[in-house]
Amino acid sequence: MSAGPQKLLPTLLDGAAKRLLIGGEWLPAASGRTFATINPSTGEVLAQLAEGDRADIDRAVDAARRAAEGPWKRFKPAQRQNVLLALAELVLEHYEELRLLDIVEMGAPISPGLNAGAEEAAETLRYYAGWATKIHGETVTPSIPDAFFAYTLKQPVGVVGAIVPWNAPLSAAIEKIAPVLATGCTMVLKPAEEASLSPLRIGELIAKLDLPPGVVNIVTGYGETAGVALTEHLGVDKIAFTGSSVTGQQIVRAAAGNLKRVSLELGGKSPDIILADADLEEAVAGAGMGVFWNSGQVCCAGTRLFVERAVHDEFVDRLAELARSLRVGDSMDPDTEIGPIISEQQLRRVTGYLESGCQQGARAVAGGTRLTDGVLANGFFVAPTVFADVEDKMLIARDEIFGPVASVLAFDTIDEVIHRANDTDFGLGGGVWTHDIGKAHRLAEEIRTGIVWINTYNQFDPAMPFGGCKMSGWGREMSIHSLDEYLNVKAVWVRTG
Ligand code: NAD
Repeated sequence: MSAGPQKLLPTLLDGAAKRLLIGGEWLPAASGRTFATINPSTGEVLAQLAEGDRADIDRAVDAARRAAEGPWKRFKPAQRQNVLLALAELVLEHYEELRLLDIVEMGAPISPGLNAGAEEAAETLRYYAGWATKIHGETVTPSIPDAFFAYTLKQPVGVVGAIVPWNAPLSAAIEKIAPVLATGCTMVLKPAEEASLSPLRIGELIAKLDLPPGVVNIVTGYGETAGVALTEHLGVDKIAFTGSSVTGQQIVRAAAGNLKRVSLELGGKSPDIILADADLEEAVAGAGMGVFWNSGQVCCAGTRLFVERAVHDEFVDRLAELARSLRVGDSMDPDTEIGPIISEQQLRRVTGYLESGCQQGARAVAGGTRLTDGVLANGFFVAPTVFADVEDKMLIARDEIFGPVASVLAFDTIDEVIHRANDTDFGLGGGVWTHDIGKAHRLAEEIRTGIVWINTYNQFDPAMPFGGCKMSGWGREMSIHSLDEYLNVKAVWVRTG
């Protein structure tokens, strides 16, 4: 570590209000308004952010349009590749700062060290750098009578409005910026109001690159104002959204004005299925952290734990033991394994579900409460919670809670668990723990989700598609499949006869 976190923070948060990145300039909001972003471990204000609104979105979309139709259009694929590779290097070089901002603003625990995840962040950018030179159409020989030659072109969709949530601010921003740059689009990025600091720092790094102004614009602000203005804007060609399913529905309605393209990475209530023959120790650790990691603030968290009846009671006991053993604390404390919930509002939502679980007859065998002892008093902490005796119809088994709350449900047969796992509005992730290869593959095929992990959980790689079906969204991020989300296919016909 080059500098201690205590030394880095004052430089990053120097007291000056953060600005918007529009057309290559750092500007205050047109209204002059700002809003505070806070540290969820302590409740303290970290910084003031510019409160972007419709007028700022207008300016940013204009800048993105000028870049899309101007100098950026003339960038060759290899130049875009170099931009992405250079950004990957800058992210590596400044990774400690970027991660530190997520630690204090989002509450991600510092424990794995300030460089944990640096390679993954750079790898996503490098992965898309590889694609920048491999985007091409095809030649086609049509079967119609006259002699024709035909080919397709893959062209950037244009100006992308990218809207991201707070639960992984840095990686969410990179996952939007990388395909935009690879495909030759331009963008207006709207970070979440709760966690904008690392996306803004990425903007400062992008400003160091030799990029035309306006390729990447960043407008901080609230969803109801800046977010809505971006999704309604007639100058935006596509919205790439990551966030809740309810907001996803609003975005689809708002996008109707110019029928802009929309891709949606939304919420989940993912089933994680533990068969009786599984290695229980591995299953408890893997499925347990599949719920509790990042304080349960993970879209694909496997929060519905279906456990075969023969091992159900033992699994519940061991999972409760794991939950009680996890150290909950300030995200800057190196001993902390589980940090805070992002905000007071989200804390109220999570504790509301804890009450609902008990009222509807589930049994909290670990946790079940807010934690307020000692240093936790001013932050937003919830004890890792395990509910047993959960039934499918209970709210805790149906709604996305987005907190460290596991619901354990017993099952008897494979057919039954397939039916119950799929009996949900969501379809994002899912897991299977077993040594029986036949059952593992059958469940992987029949669970109606975008992702299934077998004997593991929450593995990610830029080469693997990420996304869901049903209320978990439209389209895929990462992998070859994400590129088409940012490209239009044009058919060109040439009469040769
Ligand atoms: P959210 O939907 O409240 O907000 C997400 C973003 O949308 C924020 O930037 C917000 O300002 C903006 N927004 C809010 N209302 C808007 C509107 N009407 N129009 C346009 N923009 C609007 O979600 P959140 O609480 O920030 O994040 C948690 C949710 O995100 C969870 O449901 C989680 O599952 C989901 N998520 C999904 C993925 C995925 O890849 N599938 C990844 C991370 C998080």
